[in-house]
Amino acid sequence: MVDPQNAAAVRSVLKEATGNKARLDVIIFKSPCVLLERKNDPPYAVTSACTGCGVCATLGCPAIASDPETGLSSIDPSQCCGCGQCLQYCRFDAIKQD
Ligand code: SF4
Ligand code: SF4
Repeated sequence: MVDPQNAAAVRSVLKEATGNKARLDVIIFKSPCVLLERKNDPPYAVTSACTGCGVCATLGCPAIASDPETGLSSIDPSQCCGCGQCLQYCRFDAIKQD
């Protein structure tokens, strides 16, 4: 069982489950629904360290927008609930809590 909001834990469980082809593994992703039990922490923001890699935009978070020309991301603070998930996927440390 793994919390899908914990990116490091998900990576570790998937690696373990797919590493042994002789065994059948079942993974249960379990956490409160982010829409029903919204956190209300301070919003996050994208800093000038953003490289425009686009990874955070693939999360599907409605608060994250990507500039079509530069690829640089931005976060709408009015939609960000402060869950911190995007932060876990940015390899460039470009997402900070306001
Ligand atoms: S993952 Fe980080 S570097 Fe990549 S687009 Fe998002 S904020 Fe920018
Ligand atoms: S902290 Fe959560 S709600 Fe805010 S932009 Fe990142 S993924 Fe979206």
